[in-house]
Amino acid sequence: MRAGQPEIDFEALFAAAARVQSLAYAPYSNFKVGAAILADDGAVYPGCNVENAAYPSGSCAEQGAISAMVAGGGRRIAAILVLGDGEALVTPCGACRQRIREFASPETPVAVAGPDGVRQMFSLAELLPASFGPDNLRR
Ligand SMILES: [Zn+2]
Repeated sequence: MRAGQPEIDFEALFAAAARVQSLAYAPYSNFKVGAAILADDGAVYPGCNVENAAYPSGSCAEQGAISAMVAGGGRRIAAILVLGDGEALVTPCGACRQRIREFASPETPVAVAGPDGVRQMFSLAELLPASFGPDNLRR
């Protein structure tokens, strides 16, 4: 971790994600997901999935957490945790990996958790190798 970045408390991220996972709006899939971002301002921003009767209009937990971060004044993701139920790892979907990339570096930790806690740690580069990001558009 670079100097000046907040200390990462994955237990605090898990607690924040678990709190909003229970509030997720998932009447169609009944698959509730919570996410929590530790931002560069030291604040934790949670988000949950919000489904819609018109299925593609629903949004992911990571998307909600990113919106909360931006609205709260955070600009960089120091770490993100995603929490879902079931046996399989609930990793961010492809679109969310790109959404995270906008605000994170390839080294940013992505913790994937289940009800029992963090199951596996990834770097963003492991989930989204050779990514396209903001640097591509800087001249
Ligand atoms: Zn997603």
